[in-house]
Amino acid sequence: AKSGGRNRCVIFKPSMRTQVEQRIELLREVRLAIAQGEFDLYYQPVVDLEANRVAGFEALMRWNHPEQGVLPPAAFMAAFEDTDLSLQLGEVAFERALGQMRAWIDEGVEFGRVAVNISSEQFRTGRLAKDIAEKLAAWKVPADKLTIEVTENVYMGWGADVVAETVCELHAAGVLIALDDFGTGYASLANLRQFPVDRLKIDKSFVQNVEDDAIVRAVINLGASMGMKVVAEGVEKPEQLAALTAYGCDQVQGYHFAKPMPAAQVAAFVKAFGA
Ligand code: C2E
Ligand code: CA
Ligand code: CA
Ligand code: CA
Repeated sequence: AKSGGRNRCVIFKPSMRTQVEQRIELLREVRLAIAQGEFDLYYQPVVDLEANRVAGFEALMRWNHPEQGVLPPAAFMAAFEDTDLSLQLGEVAFERALGQMRAWIDEGVEFGRVAVNISSEQFRTGRLAKDIAEKLAAWKVPADKLTIEVTENVYMGWGADVVAETVCELHAAGVLIALDDFGTGYASLANLRQFPVDRLKIDKSFVQNVEDDAIVRAVINLGASMGMKVVAEGVEKPEQLAALTAYGCDQVQGYHFAKPMPAAQVAAFVKAFGA
């Protein structure tokens, strides 16, 4: 109803009932699928342009659906918006990512860092920093192998102080903080002053017409002047890569290099590309 506008009377239509029912059904299926272990992470390489090496991987959630195959988050977005399920999916993400990092360390795979996406619900618990520290210790994964990606919107509204405190704690422990989808949220610049940010991720909507985009250049310069590395996502074409390289972008990620891949393909990718 929020898109209904201020002066519009929202009428409950039969089709909306169906949407509500579909949502409830999806959440029910997701709950079951979590219990069945159907959620997993795919890994997309992040390339360091100066060194021309793999800097790390972003971990992205996938649902191995028994009938529909591998589903991206767009197919289960409602679950990330549900308090309980987003916390459960957050748990799955950390368990999977840390277990995988442990295995790669044991196998000598030079994966760099793994970046895990965090939802605002995970901050709301107030225990996120402690949780992550405990999990790192349990898996014996060094904190400097982990990056967390947060979107600007986690800082909005409620408890900005809790978020800032959590982020500071994680940063002090050696976890890198990436500000995701930079430029698409609210009060972008103000956020940069409230807590430590190590990486600015430029959203792919800006990157995809980078050739004539002053915003991308401005963000790259801003990051450089604030001592942050700038990561461009959604790099698909050689022209985009060339423009980003010319502007001095630090790291890039996109289909031009690789789509998100199952964990089993990571070692071969690193070997072929160079770590
Ligand atoms: P995001 O964090 O902005 O992740 C980048 C998205 O861009 C990913 O979509 C990735 O597959 C896609 N992408 C990367 N390179 C390209 C490219 O060259 N072209 C195009 N068209 N797309 C590219 P994906 O995997 O579908 O994930 C969508 C969103 O779901 C993510 O956006 C993130 O907000 C959310 N998400 C994914 N995994 C998690 C998770 O474990 N936890 C949380 N809270 N959110 C997650
Ligand atoms: Ca991300
Ligand atoms: Ca992003
Ligand atoms: Ca994005």
